[in-house]
Amino acid sequence: MGAMALLKIARLGHPILLARARPVPDPTAPEIRALAADLVETMRDASGIGLAAPQVHASLRLIVALPITDREGAREASPLVLVNPELEPLEETLEEAFEGCLSIPELRGLVPRVRRVGFRALDLEGRPLEGEAAGLFARILQHEVDHLDGILFPMRMRDLRSLAFESELARQRAAAAAEEVR
Ligand code: ZN
Repeated sequence: MGAMALLKIARLGHPILLARARPVPDPTAPEIRALAADLVETMRDASGIGLAAPQVHASLRLIVALPITDREGAREASPLVLVNPELEPLEETLEEAFEGCLSIPELRGLVPRVRRVGFRALDLEGRPLEGEAAGLFARILQHEVDHLDGILFPMRMRDLRSLAFESELARQRAAAAAEEVR
């Protein structure tokens, strides 16, 4: 087995991010295992909580995601590798929360997502993998599976006025907090 590598992340404007990715024909192929390992390493290096293969210039239906309920748990969580994932919404209500994307650095926006999804995929042994996700984990899965269909989070936003630089959001939050203690 080769050494893991950090991969270059495609950024907004690269056409691969708008393409529909192909199914992985053989999840057990050594190159798929290597790609999955590199995705995990690249995600960790960039402090991400999910990453999809098209984001590293591989137009394949493969994602990695952290099964976490809050960002604090990111460091300890072991990443889930999903090959040819499919999602099914388990409720209809949409909930808005801020999302970012390693392919759209520094920007965040409010994105509506369902709170619970069922997922079905294959693992790297080719075995079926299924489960349910809620909250942040469900949001991560929806964001990453969107990447496989060429959909980026701003395309899901209902109101582009919430699109903002992370640093500006932090400044606004700090100002609001200061206002409260006064
Ligand atoms: Zn993304």
